[in-house]
Amino acid sequence: MALSYEEIFKKNREWIAKKLGEEPDYFKNLSKGQLPSYLFIGCSDSRADPEEITGLNLGDIFVHRNISNIVNPIDLSATSVIQYGIENLNIRHIIVCGHYGCGGVSAAMKKEGLGKNSPWLQIIKDIHRIHKSELDLLESDEMRYDRLVELNVIEQCQNVLEMDVVKNQYYSKRYPSVHGWVFDIRTGKIIDLNFDYKKGFNELRGERPNFGQRLFGLLKKLKK
Ligand SMILES: [Zn+2]
Repeated sequence: MALSYEEIFKKNREWIAKKLGEEPDYFKNLSKGQLPSYLFIGCSDSRADPEEITGLNLGDIFVHRNISNIVNPIDLSATSVIQYGIENLNIRHIIVCGHYGCGGVSAAMKKEGLGKNSPWLQIIKDIHRIHKSELDLLESDEMRYDRLVELNVIEQCQNVLEMDVVKNQYYSKRYPSVHGWVFDIRTGKIIDLNFDYKKGFNELRGERPNFGQRLFGLLKKLKK
C-alpha cells in the first residue's frame, strides 16, 4: 500500500534520524557535492528505481529517466545530462537500463491504442521495423516483447556512443564504458547484455579491431 501524502513527510523525518544515527556527518558530507562514477539512463517506470536495484547510495549515481530509456540525439534533456556527466562529473560508466514489461515498448509494438501515434515512441517503432525479421523468428509475442526491450537498450547504447562528447572523451581517456542492462522485473535480476562498446567506439573511428578482439570475435562465432 502506498503512503499517504502526509505520511511521506513523517517518513522523511524518520529517514533523517536514521541516517544521522548511522553517520552524524551524513548530510554535511552529502552537501559538499557529488562525485558519481555512474550515469544511469533508465525508464521512468516506478518499479525500476536505480538506487533500489543496484544498492548504490545517494551521490554514487547520476540519473536520467524517461519513458523507455531513450537517448534521442535531439532530446536536449538526455543529451545535457550526458554532456554534464562527462564534462563536469568525469563519469566513468554509462549504463542504459531497460526493463521487461516496459509499457512504452509494449505501446510501440501495438498497431492500435495508447501510444500508437506518440512521437516519443517513434524511435522504438523504428527499432521494431529494422529488427522485424529477427523478431518474427521468435515463437511467441512475449518473446518478441522481451527481445524488443533488449534491442531498444542496445540501440540506445549505440546512440550514447555516437555523441561527440562521449566519443571524444573515450578516444582521449579510454572511458567512459557504455553498458546495456535489462532489469528483469519478474525476478529482480539485472541482466548485462554485454554491449561491446570498445568495438563500437573503434568502428566509429574506422579502426580495425585489434588482434585480441578479432580472436575473441572468431571464438564467439565458432561457439554458436
Ligand atoms: Zn518502461
